[in-house]
Amino acid sequence: MQDKRIEGLHRELNRLEEAIKRRDRAISDINRIIDDKLYTLTIVKEAYRTVSAILDHSEMVTAIMDLMKGVLTYDISGILLWEEDGGSELVMEVVQPSSKRLVDNFNSRFFHIAKKEIPVTLDKGRLVFKWKGESANLVRRSSKRSKAAFCKFIILKTGKKKLGILGIGRSENLGDFDEADTRLFSLIGNQSAVGLGNALSHERAQELAITDELTKFYTRRHFKECLEEEVKRSKRYGKVFSIVMLDIDDFKMINDKYGHIQGDKVLIDMSKSIRNALREVDLICRYGGEEFIIVMPETGRDGAIKAAERIRRIVKNKRFLISGKSARLTLSLGVASYPFDGVGGEDLIRKADQSLYSAKAGGKDRTC
Ligand code: GH3
Ligand code: MG
Ligand code: MG
Repeated sequence: MQDKRIEGLHRELNRLEEAIKRRDRAISDINRIIDDKLYTLTIVKEAYRTVSAILDHSEMVTAIMDLMKGVLTYDISGILLWEEDGGSELVMEVVQPSSKRLVDNFNSRFFHIAKKEIPVTLDKGRLVFKWKGESANLVRRSSKRSKAAFCKFIILKTGKKKLGILGIGRSENLGDFDEADTRLFSLIGNQSAVGLGNALSHERAQELAITDELTKFYTRRHFKECLEEEVKRSKRYGKVFSIVMLDIDDFKMINDKYGHIQGDKVLIDMSKSIRNALREVDLICRYGGEEFIIVMPETGRDGAIKAAERIRRIVKNKRFLISGKSARLTLSLGVASYPFDGVGGEDLIRKADQSLYSAKAGGKDRTC
């Protein structure tokens, strides 16, 4: 009788132990699912933050690649973007030492997909091939012989419009992508497409506009028209004029340290200082991201250098307030004068660009 009761209690105990084990397994399954979901949510949030903060599409490409690298393991990645004028740009990055064979293999699979998706563009267009960072060295240094055994590609689309292709590849050593990798990859691809779509339409709208939204300066397109006018006018009346190209030194650091929104505020602040340092008749344009160009009518080389130095000093002595902290910035400037450095608009731009390059090469914070 007693034995039977003990046996019964044992069975009950075993049953309870099993139930507890099952419950523990269920809890750890739930925890894993929650962790997984939280992780995915974090990635979605991060991808969204990345793509919505950036409007310049080449910067976006870098941001997408950096984001991908942080959450996925692969040997090589690439983003191909195609443009309506027929030109396309393929940016590649080798993130692990890889053989030339792997790179070639990945490329040919990339092109195979690209040809299928956008045959017209690739056939008639020019293709710019770019390496990100020091990736090309990695290829040369490597002794591994492996092919890109596992690849994933996603077509970047907004609505029905195809914008490009995002791809990643792994050698045999890394093994195939699993379900979670595939999900993350398509998530990043979809978020990137949204961001790229915005950046491209923003760039197009900017190209058509006369004034730049952020700085309120003239756009590059309008500058070109004004420069041609100035050349004609100076020719007709036998006058001189100069252009000054300027670029903020180490501006990327500001973005990296404080973020893009703060970077934009600095650009606005900077543009006000530049405007205040110049005459009313000087025409100021935003030539690129943090690059400006000024047309100074009836100003010879000496006058232009004086004006450029005035801007440089004002900016150098200014304290920029970034996220409550005071920071200093410097400028590099390049001067070109008509007719001394050239009699055509393009020649003058080239010369100003060369001068700016000399200023950077000479140690920045100077006028050349
Ligand atoms: P350097 O002294 O050689 O000019 O160094 P840099 O870091 O200024 O030059 P680089 O051309 O490598 O980078 C320019 C950076 O300017 C890249 C990008 O982060 C930033 N930038 C360009 N346009 C914008 C913009 O509209 N807003 C913000 N916040 N940053 C921009
Ligand atoms: Mg710069
Ligand atoms: Mg620059």
